[in-house]
Amino acid sequence: MDARDGQAAMIAASVWTNQAGAAPKTGALPGPLRVDVAVVGAGYLGTTAALALAAGGARVAVLERGELGQGASGLNGGQVIPGLKRSPAEIEAQLGRERGGAVNRFVLRSADAVFELVARHGIECGAVRNGWIQAAASHAAWLQQRARVNEINERGGNATLLDARELQQLLGVRAGAYAGGWLNRDAGTLHPLNYLYGLARAALAAGVHLHTQSPVVGLQGQAPAWQLRLAHGPVVTAGQVLICTNAYSDDLYPGLRQSILPATSLQIASAPLAPELRAQILPQGQAVSDSRRVMNYFRIGPQGRFMIGGRGPFRAARRSDYDGLVSAMHRLFPQLRDVPVEYRWAGQVALTRDFLPHVHQPRPGLWCVLGCNGRGVALASALGTAIGEQLLGRPGTHPFEVTPLRRLPLHNLHRLYAGGLIQYFRLLDRLG
Ligand SMILES: Cc1cc2nc3c(=O)[nH]c(=O)nc-3n(C[C@H](O)[C@H](O)[C@H](O)COP(=O)(O)OP(=O)(O)OC[C@H]3O[C@@H](n4cnc5c(N)ncnc54)[C@H](O)[C@@H]3O)c2cc1C
Repeated sequence: MDARDGQAAMIAASVWTNQAGAAPKTGALPGPLRVDVAVVGAGYLGTTAALALAAGGARVAVLERGELGQGASGLNGGQVIPGLKRSPAEIEAQLGRERGGAVNRFVLRSADAVFELVARHGIECGAVRNGWIQAAASHAAWLQQRARVNEINERGGNATLLDARELQQLLGVRAGAYAGGWLNRDAGTLHPLNYLYGLARAALAAGVHLHTQSPVVGLQGQAPAWQLRLAHGPVVTAGQVLICTNAYSDDLYPGLRQSILPATSLQIASAPLAPELRAQILPQGQAVSDSRRVMNYFRIGPQGRFMIGGRGPFRAARRSDYDGLVSAMHRLFPQLRDVPVEYRWAGQVALTRDFLPHVHQPRPGLWCVLGCNGRGVALASALGTAIGEQLLGRPGTHPFEVTPLRRLPLHNLHRLYAGGLIQYFRLLDRLG
């Protein structure tokens, strides 16, 4: 089975295809096309950018290699989390007060972009804004969270610290599993594949030429006449090009694939929970991640199924790779021991070395935007919208610096060293 068949198999294995609405009607681009902007990749970034561009009057094509949702945007946990992995103070220390402050303001409001898009386009994806909880794996982690809650609220966020008892009540988790946590009330959950279908449908309605089964295999020329060659023959001519291929980047533009680490994230979903279990576990429906370096995330999914995800290997996932998630589910929620697991699937997350999304302009009129690092439901939606507006010529739509495209050192060996690093982080997590 080649990697792309693997991608198609994963989308079929995902719980989201269960109860997904009908996919919008799309197909391969039938012939040559001339547009103002050609977008490569139809995830959240590509589709939200296309929507913003079309709203500004641009002629836009979105070209997707496979089917809608084959990338991370159709496979993720559906947790709408406004914020980065690092705390606001860490971001300001990393980027300086001015840019760091602007990045914090942008990411802390990034969930607004999702809920506004859902409302504006009437997207039926079960979007609810009932919060995201980060559970502290140790007392030291909880003390750090206390500082983070203050930092977020000082910057206009909506965070509440939870002690161990409050956390246990909200999660229904085994007593003693966590030392406490915090709740971000601006966050929420949705059905990620239906959200993507809704964005794609809105883009089509706005006149965007959105084509699936249209891999871009060649990029030639220069602004204002870039030429994108599709695998099945047609050529798209575009004034500007936006590449949003994220962890699924290939060698379309030299060095792009090597600028990020593609990390596998695994998920499982149980059978629908009986009403008495449903009443105990996450009764208010929040999404949850824990504070570990190699963390687990969980929520209630379609039909009241318990879903949990976490880091996978730096290679194609095997069935035994999911055993750790089943153990984590039983350890945290012993009452789920007899509930069967019905879905197992994986997707690829693009990790960047500085944990920030990257915006590159390697040539005039050629943009690459990628690397939302496992926080892309909110961030890719907000950033895609802002990048679309930037390509229309509007200044200051987002706070991210345009940086040179840099290959990660020893990228060819990433499976070895990244795998080793994950083992090391797991050890640190176990030590406390
Ligand atoms: C299992 C998993 C769970 C996650 N859970 C969460 C979560 O709960 N919350 C959260 O905020 N984030 C989560 N994330 C991260 C989030 O899903 C991503 O950050 C986000 O979807 C990235 O969107 P994107 O548009 O940048 O990329 P993608 O959605 O990956 O889209 C890239 C697209 O480019 C296409 N492509 C690649 N090469 C070509 C080419 N040459 N020609 C044409 N098309 C091409 C691919 O087929 C793909 O569809 C998760 C990710 C995974 C994998």
